[in-house]
Amino acid sequence: MPAYKRILLKLSGEALMGDDAFGINRSTIVRIVEEVAEVTRLGVEVAVVIGGGNIFRGVAGGSVGMDRATADYMGMLATVMNSLALGDAFEKVGVKARVMSAIAIDQVVEPYVRPKALQYLEEGKVVVFAAGTGNPFFTTDTAAALRGAEIGAAIVLKATKVDGIYTADPKKDPAATLYSSISFDEAITRQLEVMDATAFALCRDQKLPIKVFSIFKPGALRRVVMGADEGTLVHV
Ligand code: UDP
Repeated sequence: MPAYKRILLKLSGEALMGDDAFGINRSTIVRIVEEVAEVTRLGVEVAVVIGGGNIFRGVAGGSVGMDRATADYMGMLATVMNSLALGDAFEKVGVKARVMSAIAIDQVVEPYVRPKALQYLEEGKVVVFAAGTGNPFFTTDTAAALRGAEIGAAIVLKATKVDGIYTADPKKDPAATLYSSISFDEAITRQLEVMDATAFALCRDQKLPIKVFSIFKPGALRRVVMGADEGTLVHV
């Protein structure tokens, strides 16, 4: 039995890059989508928020010197591209998926309407939330917390390159160990970076647990959904 009925999966844009320097790597996106498909077959309702960092980020790279809000809108459009690629990849593996955008771009993607999203989830469709929160100065982590709370997800699964939250940066400190679980309060006290501050505060206020795990470990998503002790659980 899966541990959760409905999940919000946050994928960073970089998760789609694979070993490429930028953009979307086909075999990587197919592998991720297949892992999500497996979870839907367990009867779990899945919503996805995808980042845009593999294409454009509002606070770095090509945006240096730009007006921040303009750069952020570009970042949000990058997430729309990733969302379209994901939606397409889901359909290719036979999973019904719907992409919904927080920014009006109706000819390309249907708009985000909460009741509609809930309906799709109940129908077993994967819902991909594009364009983050629709607002500059936010991140897709915050979009994941926001949409997760809105759809009543049991948990936000933050898929990353690392396998969870460590006591210290394992690249700098070889003695660093992985937390299997930690409370929101303890994470604050220990100044551990789980998600950005806005996303973290929203999850904490809404008592929405977060699990940080590595999407690069084959089968990790399935194991996490089945309640395995993998990655780090951030709990109330
Ligand atoms: N962004 C934004 N508002 C949002 C979500 C995203 O302005 O609600 C912009 C922001 O510029 C951000 C970019 O979109 O840098 C890509 O999102 P993010 O950095 O969260 O992607 P990830 O790091 O997960 O790939």
